[in-house]
Amino acid sequence: MASFGRQVVNSTQRCDVRIMCVCACGGNRYDCTAAGRVDTGDSSMKIERIETFQVQWSPNDTPAQRSAFVRVWTDDGLYGIGEASPMQGGIASLLMIQHDIAPALIGADPLDHAVLQDRLTHKLVKLGPEGALTGALAAIDIALWDIKGKMFGQPIYKLMGGGWRTELPFYASIGGNGIERSLDDVLRHVETRMKDQPAAIKIRFDNGRVDLDSQIPDHIEKARAVRKQVGDKFPLAFDSNNGYSTGGAMRVGRVLEELDYWWFEEPVQHYHIQATGEVAQRLSITVSAGEQTYTMGGLAELIDAGVRMIQPDIVKMGGITGLQRCAALAHAHGVELVSHQTQPTVGHLANMHVVAAQLHATKPIEWNDPSDRMHSVFDEVPKPVNGLFKLPDRPGLGMDFVEDKLAERRIDVTG
Ligand SMILES: [Mg+2]
Repeated sequence: MASFGRQVVNSTQRCDVRIMCVCACGGNRYDCTAAGRVDTGDSSMKIERIETFQVQWSPNDTPAQRSAFVRVWTDDGLYGIGEASPMQGGIASLLMIQHDIAPALIGADPLDHAVLQDRLTHKLVKLGPEGALTGALAAIDIALWDIKGKMFGQPIYKLMGGGWRTELPFYASIGGNGIERSLDDVLRHVETRMKDQPAAIKIRFDNGRVDLDSQIPDHIEKARAVRKQVGDKFPLAFDSNNGYSTGGAMRVGRVLEELDYWWFEEPVQHYHIQATGEVAQRLSITVSAGEQTYTMGGLAELIDAGVRMIQPDIVKMGGITGLQRCAALAHAHGVELVSHQTQPTVGHLANMHVVAAQLHATKPIEWNDPSDRMHSVFDEVPKPVNGLFKLPDRPGLGMDFVEDKLAERRIDVTG
């Protein structure tokens, strides 16, 4: 079906997907090798329909354990893929898309992604401006950028102005190291993940957030043991996942400073912004927060409080458009932006495109525990080679569904 012949079109004609074409309008010439669409103003391409579905990774997955995806189709037959925050399986976000967002998008120009996001944010703000709504809009934004890349035949980072880097070091993000996991088991997990050649390791301590400080001795013992395991020079990070009071955080933070950890993530409850700022200002270790912040205003408050490293998540707020804005905010204030990202496929790739185009990438990108989710329904899921994730040079995100594999695991969420 694909023909790589060359076709001349005028300013309003469309060329078929994967046919190389040249626009000879107004003396300008545009190549659109992969996506097959030429435009000199209003693209006239319209959003035609939006699919919302979960992917079930294991037959025993509960609905809350599945991932949440969207596929946005245009009337040209192009589509883009997006992912919503997986909290509770992303079901609330997918239903919002079906009921509240899709009706406003059908017939819109996908290239208007930023306008559409801002319009819908304000229109739907009373649904709750944080969480499910921002996750839904993030999924749509990522899908529209995927369409945009396919339309212009370029990887997304190129459309953002180019990449400062196209091979990205990563840190291995290891969860579940709290009281439920023995010290020996923590060390085994670290040893296993070191085989992927990460640039750093982050150990995460999960808790119910309702019994602050109760596990501090266990956490400190494990932080010391991991430092001893990897040696003095290897970069380490520590994520308490909101486990401490302000005083408890100071106690742990001073140990992390003694152990030369690189950063201390979410030391106190995320909604205690002043307390987070106090911990950040009183410790010399870099204190980070922001993965549970869903607005630019919220990030600005963290920065005002004294946080010097923010961690917005591309599938929780803003999508690609939003994370670009966060990078500008961080840059304007001289604050590090080290994005949070634990979804191994669409979220990870979208994040990689933004980090590639980000001026200062002071720390490696996050890579969560590897799992079957990386391989099951996509054709070219990013995997590290010699400790680096390479940006694909395909148009758009650079990854696509394998339809028969997707059909085996797909569960429509339509409400
Ligand atoms: Mg975290």
